[in-house]
Amino acid sequence: RAKAAGGNRYELADDDSNARVIARHSLSNGLPSALENGEFFIEYQPLVRLADGTVRGAEALVRWLHPVHGVLGPDQFIPLAEDTGLIVPLGRWVLEQAARQARAWQDAPEGEAERLRVNVNLSPCQLSHPTLVSDTVAVLENAGLCPSALCLEVTENDLIGADEDALRPLRQLADLGVDIALDDFGTGYSNLSYLRRLPVSTLKLDRSFTRGMQRAPADPVDVKIVEGIVSLAHTLDLAVTVEGVETAVQAEHLRMLGFDTAQGWYYARPGPPERLHTLALADAS
Ligand code: C2E
Ligand code: MG
Ligand code: MG
Ligand code: MG
Repeated sequence: RAKAAGGNRYELADDDSNARVIARHSLSNGLPSALENGEFFIEYQPLVRLADGTVRGAEALVRWLHPVHGVLGPDQFIPLAEDTGLIVPLGRWVLEQAARQARAWQDAPEGEAERLRVNVNLSPCQLSHPTLVSDTVAVLENAGLCPSALCLEVTENDLIGADEDALRPLRQLADLGVDIALDDFGTGYSNLSYLRRLPVSTLKLDRSFTRGMQRAPADPVDVKIVEGIVSLAHTLDLAVTVEGVETAVQAEHLRMLGFDTAQGWYYARPGPPERLHTLALADAS
């Protein structure tokens, strides 16, 4: 049995694992044709520069408009797409769309939006795929997008244990000027010396670290830990982004703690690409 929760989001009932297996099965059956049928779409969530409050760009977040279940979030189908291998063509599609969208933001008649960039999430299957570098270069060329306008997000967990061979494609992309961000940072428990070897330019702190700062007074232990992470990142010449900012109190605290960029419902929920443009223009005026 499945129950609807929060708008038209689809959530599996926790108490019924049998139904979950069936639902999982029926979802994975529909996956391959979903790409051909144009059932996927992308929402964009703004990334805000904390120093001046301007929109720096947006993260592309994929959704599936399922013919029966309505809008499904990535947590409900990305694992299936990874198991079935569909993540490679799906991930390439997301990258193509996002690159084209970033170019469209930059091309808008109001020149102020020129600085807008786009972040795209990569799965481990894409990371180890032999054509990652050539595909990405081709996508950028076709879209006419400068490599520095693209940031690829890889989770810390997916990079833990990666050796030099496994890191080579990311390093090549970084050398071309693509930004690489370590997503969900702090949840994977990588050691600090390992961080030095990664071709990443940005740490994206997982939102679990900043939950204790949503309301004043902030949890003092959380503050100390986050302070340490920000200072570590800056020592290593990495930019730090914080995700999951939900309140004004939290936003101000994180700005004072020295984060470079922030993302969260407090600024904007993920939404259609047109909205980002409006936000960016609003802060340019
Ligand atoms: P992520 O990359 O860490 O993305 C951030 C997630 O946090 C998004 O969930 C976003 O909607 C949510 N979020 C943003 N602000 C807030 C906030 O203030 N509070 C709370 N509670 N949540 C917030 P979403 O869209 O459900 O995506 C979940 C994950 O799915 C992403 O986590 C990412 O790992 C993955 N994902 C999304 N799109 C893609 C894709 O195209 N390819 C791959 N491989 N993975 C994707
Ligand atoms: Mg991400
Ligand atoms: Mg994240
Ligand atoms: Mg995540």
